[in-house]
Amino acid sequence: RLEIKNLQRAYGGRAVVDDVSLKIMPGQVTCLLGPSGCGKSTTLRMIAGVEMQDSGTIHVDGKLICDTVFRVPPERREIGLMFQDFALFPHLSVADNVGFGLKTGNKAERRARIEELLERVDLLRFIDGYPHQLSGGEQQRVALARALAPRPKIMLMDEPFSGLDNRLRDDIRDETLGILKEEGTAVLLVTHEPEEAMRMADEIALMRDGRIVQQGAPYNVYTRPVDRASVAFFSDAN
Ligand code: ATP
Ligand code: MG
Repeated sequence: RLEIKNLQRAYGGRAVVDDVSLKIMPGQVTCLLGPSGCGKSTTLRMIAGVEMQDSGTIHVDGKLICDTVFRVPPERREIGLMFQDFALFPHLSVADNVGFGLKTGNKAERRARIEELLERVDLLRFIDGYPHQLSGGEQQRVALARALAPRPKIMLMDEPFSGLDNRLRDDIRDETLGILKEEGTAVLLVTHEPEEAMRMADEIALMRDGRIVQQGAPYNVYTRPVDRASVAFFSDAN
């Protein structure tokens, strides 16, 4: 369970993330939806721990992982990341890519986890292959296996599917989120496309100018926009 409270971040005196609070439950997909520049990626980077907030707190399963004085380093947050430009390591085999973040267990245990995950994404036959031998969609599935390897409680995804062509994207997206739900991972998925959020989300947090302007079930957010700007955002995108 991920809880962020009153998160704030300014650049050059301008608040780009302004008092953002969110709660994300295990096995649930929350979409952070909003137009370009509204502060989605900045929010994710603070949760991941690669950027510091000016104020606000982040808790995982009730445990404080970050406030303005205390800070758990990114690699110890039990948070997985999938970003669009978060490519596989080209010089490492598929097995070594998946095993990259695996720090626990002996060699045989790590190998077993790698095989289990590659089986899961249906790519076991590529275990000794290299990224350049895989299609874009296959690489994406290896990236999912890599992100899942250390059993993160939270998965942060920043438009990870936008590099894939349409038909493939739908398949990979459904499959990826299906696996994450089965694992009971709490997912925060960033997108600027209402259609994607409507399809994938259990809950939508609609963001604009650094603030969350509305939050709720997809159907409610879509059918009861809070203001004209939200109406425009939903209709522009169609
Ligand atoms: P997109 O959908 O285009 O990815 P976003 O919602 O992810 O947009 P952010 O990347 O979070 O938006 O950026 C929010 C605002 O903060 C933007 O106006 C951006 O220019 C600004 N910003 C982001 N990072 C920095 C930085 N390091 N220094 C200064 N301004 C920044
Ligand atoms: Mg972004």
